[in-house]
Amino acid sequence: CGIVGYFGKRKAADILVDGLRRLEYRGYDSAGVACLYDGRIDVVKNPGKIADLRTKVFTQPSETISSSHLGIGHTRWATHGPPNEINAHPHVDASGRFALVHNGIIENYKDIRKVLEQQGITCVSDTDSEVLVQLVAFLYKGNLEDAVSEALQQVKGTYGIVVITDHEPDKLVVARCGSPIVIGLGRDETLVASDASAIIPHTRDAVYLEDFDMAVITDQGMEMCNVHRAPVSREVTAMDWDE
Ligand code: GLU
Repeated sequence: CGIVGYFGKRKAADILVDGLRRLEYRGYDSAGVACLYDGRIDVVKNPGKIADLRTKVFTQPSETISSSHLGIGHTRWATHGPPNEINAHPHVDASGRFALVHNGIIENYKDIRKVLEQQGITCVSDTDSEVLVQLVAFLYKGNLEDAVSEALQQVKGTYGIVVITDHEPDKLVVARCGSPIVIGLGRDETLVASDASAIIPHTRDAVYLEDFDMAVITDQGMEMCNVHRAPVSREVTAMDWDE
């Protein structure tokens, strides 16, 4: 339902939880965040209110959560599997080294799950979304956008996704097909959201992804391509929104 992503100088957990609160009005049944710091990804998720998630994130936070400058967050509107903690996003792969948030529906998730099972990879949630992160991790050979692109070429359905891995700790990979994604370009920071309202307090400079676009956000800035890895370029537009 709702997506936020952050990479920048400020504390990621603060921006993510605040962004999720700004997306609350769209409706959701569970929520979560994943933060990356010092070669580790910590996930906190919860069925129920953002206020409860906030308590869970900020009461005795781990060092990862307290120190992270890169992370992803999600409010879920369940389509596949009941709203519980395991089915809430972010989803992580079996190794715990990749995390992903997903909006939309992966129509062929059962086929992908079967292929993964043949490789000895077992999904732990009931969602369609989890196969994406397991598949990306399975296909990963040292470059996250390559693995995401390969995975998305096997997918039928709709998606807005953000993926992170501790193999490449300064990178967010974002993609869209049928589910909106906007990237906010701030000073010393980049934000991702499914809806401008989540990031408007931080920047007005925005790039709206089109279907089959991918964006790779690093400390060097943002590069764009499509899911087949051909370069694309999108204009930076000014978001206009009175809070
Ligand atoms: N299909 C996914 C799920 O059920 C994502 C739902 C959403 O867009 O929030 O977890």
